[in-house]
Amino acid sequence: MKKTITIIVPCYNEHEVLRQCHSSLTALMQSQPDYDWEVLMINDGSTDDTLDIIKELAAADPRVQYVDLSRNFGKEAAMLAGMDYAKGDCVIEVDADLQFPPDVIPLMIERWQHGYADVYGRYTYRPQESWPRRVLTRMFYRLLRAASQFDVMPEVGDFRLLDRKCVDALCTLREQQRYTKGLYDWIGFKKCEVTFEKTERVAGTSKYSMRQLFALACDGLTSFTTAPLRLAILGGLIISLIYNDPAQGFPTLIVVMLFLGGVELLALGIIGEYVGKIFNETKRRPVYFVNSSSTTPRDANGKS
Ligand code: UDP
Ligand code: MG
Repeated sequence: MKKTITIIVPCYNEHEVLRQCHSSLTALMQSQPDYDWEVLMINDGSTDDTLDIIKELAAADPRVQYVDLSRNFGKEAAMLAGMDYAKGDCVIEVDADLQFPPDVIPLMIERWQHGYADVYGRYTYRPQESWPRRVLTRMFYRLLRAASQFDVMPEVGDFRLLDRKCVDALCTLREQQRYTKGLYDWIGFKKCEVTFEKTERVAGTSKYSMRQLFALACDGLTSFTTAPLRLAILGGLIISLIYNDPAQGFPTLIVVMLFLGGVELLALGIIGEYVGKIFNETKRRPVYFVNSSSTTPRDANGKS
């Protein structure tokens, strides 16, 4: 029996690129006739006519299915929705903007056939991004790798082929503040790398602002490690050991007080970040809601 491959495409205001995305995926599917294909487009609360275009594509091509989320939940949630609805024996995640070149996909499939469960793309070229974004990205990954035991690489993103085993595993992780890049590593399974050259967005602009990236970075750090909490302990210890001449006058006193105040506020902020996380997760809200869809979640089809 033919195996089925599902391509998940999260779409947020991508009306400029969707048709082009579909035609390059069509070319890919035609070049791989040994598989059945499903293209699952997740409309993540777009405010332009993305959904209309998706529906149009779905009407013209029976392989295209869609899930329309009730609002913009973010890419992480959209990808989870895609995994819940994917019927394939494996799933490939691509961005609508074609920054992940589909011509690498045949190689990913080959690796999958050789028994790898998670074939991830690692890019060799970072397209023009502003330097603060580049520097901050690099700093963040260094921090994350130092603080957690996971090997999250900056050049590795969501462009990957996941076997059904991995998809089922990821679907069981229903945390609200998702940091999927870390989750891929956390679930384990046999991994394999393929390299590709990341290209510029074909049209439109990045859907992530610096603020969103910062929030994602905070989520990434705090959902995979409690190391920042230890920082407060360490800082406290060091400061309490400081011994100095007691009579040094008013300015010194003020400086010391301000310094300690700053350290305390920082520690409080870190604790607050975790408390906020606990608060959000204990509400146990679903990660997304679906407005309409052309297909059903895999669970509804009597998954074991
Ligand atoms: N995306 C999404 N919801 C969002 C933001 C982005 O579904 O809230 C999708 C977007 O449509 C695209 C993918 O995630 O298919 C990657 O987004 P983008 O290209 O803007 O990110 P970048 O490449 O700049 O990291
Ligand atoms: Mg992009």
